[in-house]
Amino acid sequence: IPCSAQEEHIFRSRHPAVPVPDITLPDFVLQDAELYADKVAFVEAATGKTYTYAEVVRDTRRFAKALRSLGLRKGQVVVVALPNVAEYGIVALGIMAAGGVFSGANPTAHESELKKQAEAADAKLIVTDDLNYGKVKGLGLPVIVLGEESISTAVNWNELLDAADRAGDKLSHEEVLQSDLCALPFSSGTTGMSKGVMLTHRNLVANLCSSLFGVGPEMVGQVATLGLIPFFHIYGITGICCATLRNKGKVVVMGRFELRTFLNALITQEVNFAPIVPPIILALVKNPIVEEFDLSKFKLKAIMTAAAPLAPELLTAFENKFPGVQVQEAYGLTEHSCITLTHGDPSKGHGIAKKNSVGFLLPNLEIKFINPENGQSLPKNTPGEICVRSQCVMQGYFNNKEETARTIDADGWLHTGDIGYIDNDGDIFIVDRIKELIKYKGFQVAPAELEAILLTHPSVEDAAVVPLPDEEAGEIPAACVVMSKGAEESEEDIMEFVASNVAHYKKVRVVRFVDSIPKSPSGKIMRRLLKEKMGSGSKAS
Ligand code: AMP
Repeated sequence: IPCSAQEEHIFRSRHPAVPVPDITLPDFVLQDAELYADKVAFVEAATGKTYTYAEVVRDTRRFAKALRSLGLRKGQVVVVALPNVAEYGIVALGIMAAGGVFSGANPTAHESELKKQAEAADAKLIVTDDLNYGKVKGLGLPVIVLGEESISTAVNWNELLDAADRAGDKLSHEEVLQSDLCALPFSSGTTGMSKGVMLTHRNLVANLCSSLFGVGPEMVGQVATLGLIPFFHIYGITGICCATLRNKGKVVVMGRFELRTFLNALITQEVNFAPIVPPIILALVKNPIVEEFDLSKFKLKAIMTAAAPLAPELLTAFENKFPGVQVQEAYGLTEHSCITLTHGDPSKGHGIAKKNSVGFLLPNLEIKFINPENGQSLPKNTPGEICVRSQCVMQGYFNNKEETARTIDADGWLHTGDIGYIDNDGDIFIVDRIKELIKYKGFQVAPAELEAILLTHPSVEDAAVVPLPDEEAGEIPAACVVMSKGAEESEEDIMEFVASNVAHYKKVRVVRFVDSIPKSPSGKIMRRLLKEKMGSGSKAS
């Protein structure tokens, strides 16, 4: 219920507060797992490989022990560069149970990008698979490789767990506290390069308690969740893996999106809850392949869409095509441990937020909307920068006090860089984004990172990257580039240059040569102006 605290306009959840138990994340999500020992926790859609709850508990413990035997100490970071595989949750929880810090990396990242993340995180170990081993073997860190074959210069996952069994129980073990760090995902936040987001066990347990509110005992063991969103992203690891394990459901793991496999998996694995992103909704609505399937066989009850805005027309088209499927839009960010606003689930007695809103504020959270110019909080129905305060707010950016101070203010408010408002009923609407971030199919693309790469090209004098709207991807990165006199490269050459240095989703997809980049007197790129000019197709300078 919205309330005014002194002169500040602060709004609280319309749902009652929920308790947050003081235990670590692995203990929280695997609590009571023995009651569901034979139930499937993870199944890979492509191979049928499964892990039951008993196996998840056993291998999480074995892996934690193995990590300690390799010398991992409390607070040390392990970078995980894996696609979504059946073992992923075990890897992440095992690291946390050992007192380590799980830092998920995009497995499709370029070698140089993985190096940057491992260095920025001060990683002590890498976990990857045989396909990606080549990209991390030169980093000078011990590497654990998932896969059947042994690589002489790496530690094989199966052999490591077997060795842990033989190691006895004499390894010293520092107690893991809820206030310890457990995850270090990377996000560019409101400005600049990608940074490590420091999250504690408390942050993530609190987020799960808030987002799972209303789940009654009768719902435990019932959910079959699609595990397609990458588990290296906070939405995948918290919103999918941990939330489903907490409820003793089944995660149907998919390593990549292919529409037929996706639709088959929905039917054969009886998926009833599918967290996805808008581009997949677009495929479900538009792609003729969907007609090959008998939609009456779907057990899908709800989809959740987050990570990027959902166009109202797309929502309507989806509802018309899948009338029985509830659409739960949600909003969240890495810096807030995952979900923040949600439509919730009417079967849990949540009530429905208005269509085209991103939902209501989760229990235990506070929100305000400020004028970005002067920081003053604004009343209802007035758009401003969204600021959130709760136990889910990150501890800060790793080794980056300056950006931390810019993002979390002295009163503990996390400044999101998104613009929205709350209406009279407590439903929240997102209307704009003022931070630099570009979202390509829900993936983060930091303009500063692409600008730095562009500037390493010998013929590029200056560059600025901005988002352009795109029906399929939501947004695409577009670059304005000032070329040096006499340069002979074409726009395509510049695009290829960037593509050879970054993961596929960060590619610059439009390049326009300009005479100069508009900058403010303090030297800041005037991104809004550029975006407008690029969008209208006129020359950007
Ligand atoms: P990430 O940290 O990668 O999850 O990115 C968080 C950002 O994604 C937010 O700050 C928003 O800009 C954007 N975002 C997430 N969910 C939504 C949503 N439902 N609608 C609009 N933007 C969203």
